[in-house]
Amino acid sequence: MAYIISDDCTNCGACEGECPVEAISEQADKRVIDADTCISCGACAAVCPVEAISEE
Ligand code: SF4
Ligand code: SF4
Repeated sequence: MAYIISDDCTNCGACEGECPVEAISEQADKRVIDADTCISCGACAAVCPVEAISEE
């Protein structure tokens, strides 16, 4: 189980700095979570201003 970022993402970057394992990276239109790296801590979801991050 990993967290995923929906298309609601505005690419603000707030979540990226919260991830303890650097699983979040910037793509052209949104941030993306590497499912193999994510430890499902939820830290990113807690700071997303548009609630674009949820558990898979
Ligand atoms: S749930 Fe935790 S480990 Fe997974 S991407 Fe978010 S901050 Fe990183
Ligand atoms: S905090 Fe939310 S809106 Fe901002 S980059 Fe992360 S997923 Fe996208």
